[in-house]
Amino acid sequence: LRRQVLELQRISSLGMIAGGICHELNNLLTPILNYAKLGLRSDDPAYRTRAFEKILEAAQQAAQITGGVLGLARPSGETRVPTDLAALVEQVLRLTRKDLMEHRVTLEYHARERPRARVNPAQIQQVLFNLVINARQAMPQGGRMLVQVGLDATGRMAELVVADSGVGIDPAGLRRIFDPFFTTKTGPDESGLGGTGLGLSVCREIIEAHKGRIRATSKVGVGTTFCLKLPLDRESESSGETQHAAASPSSR
Ligand code: ADP
Repeated sequence: LRRQVLELQRISSLGMIAGGICHELNNLLTPILNYAKLGLRSDDPAYRTRAFEKILEAAQQAAQITGGVLGLARPSGETRVPTDLAALVEQVLRLTRKDLMEHRVTLEYHARERPRARVNPAQIQQVLFNLVINARQAMPQGGRMLVQVGLDATGRMAELVVADSGVGIDPAGLRRIFDPFFTTKTGPDESGLGGTGLGLSVCREIIEAHKGRIRATSKVGVGTTFCLKLPLDRESESSGETQHAAASPSSR
C-alpha cells in the first residue's frame, strides 16, 4: 500500500505540472521557430551563426525541462545522485510559475548557497511540488510565497524553506498535518488537486528516508512555513563543489 500511495502522489504531482511544462516548452519553441525561419532567410553568415546559437540555447533549456520531468515521470527507483538542490528547486519553480501567477501568488526566491545532497531528484521534486501546491491552496485570494535554499544554522545540513502568507494552521492541526489522511480540504480543487491528506505524509516519508527532517510552523491568518533539512553530500563537499564554508577548517 505504501508503494501505491507514493505512486499515486507522484502521478498527481505530474498532473499538476503538466500545464506548466506545456507552457514552458511552448515559450521555448517560439524562439526556436522564429530564429530558424530568420536564419534560413538571411544571407549574412554572422546573423545565421547568431540564429543557430539562439536555437541551441532554447533547445538546451527545453532538454533540461524534459530531462527533469522524465525523472518525475519514471516510477521512482532508489537511485540517489549528488544533486544541486538549488537547481532542483529552480526547476520546480519554473514549472509551477504559471500556476502560481494564475492564482495571484507572487513568488520570492533566494539561494543563499547552492548545497549539494545525495538524493533521489524525482522524489525531492515531488516533495517540493507538494509544498508549493499546498501553499498555493492556502492562499485562495492570492498572496506571497517565499522559497529559500541554503545551509542551515549549523552549516552541516542543506535547508529548503517554503513559506506562504496563507490561512495558516491552528496548533491542533499542526500536530496532525503529517498524519496520513489528515486533510481539511473538502475535496479536490478546481485543478483536481489535494483533498487526500496524503501529500505531507508522503513528503515526510521521502525526507526521512533521506535522513532529513521536515518541520512546519504556522500562525492562523498569517501564514505557514515548511522547513526541510537534508544531509550534505560529503564527497562533493570535500571536492569543493559547494560553497560550504565549514568544509575548510581554517574558515571557522
Ligand atoms: P491534502 O493537501 O490532500 O489535504 P496534505 O497532507 O498535503 O494533504 O495536507 C494536510 C493538511 O495540512 C491540509 O489539508 C491542510 O489543512 C494543511 N496544510 C498543508 N499545507 C498547508 C499550508 N501551506 N497552509 C495551510 N494549511 C496547510
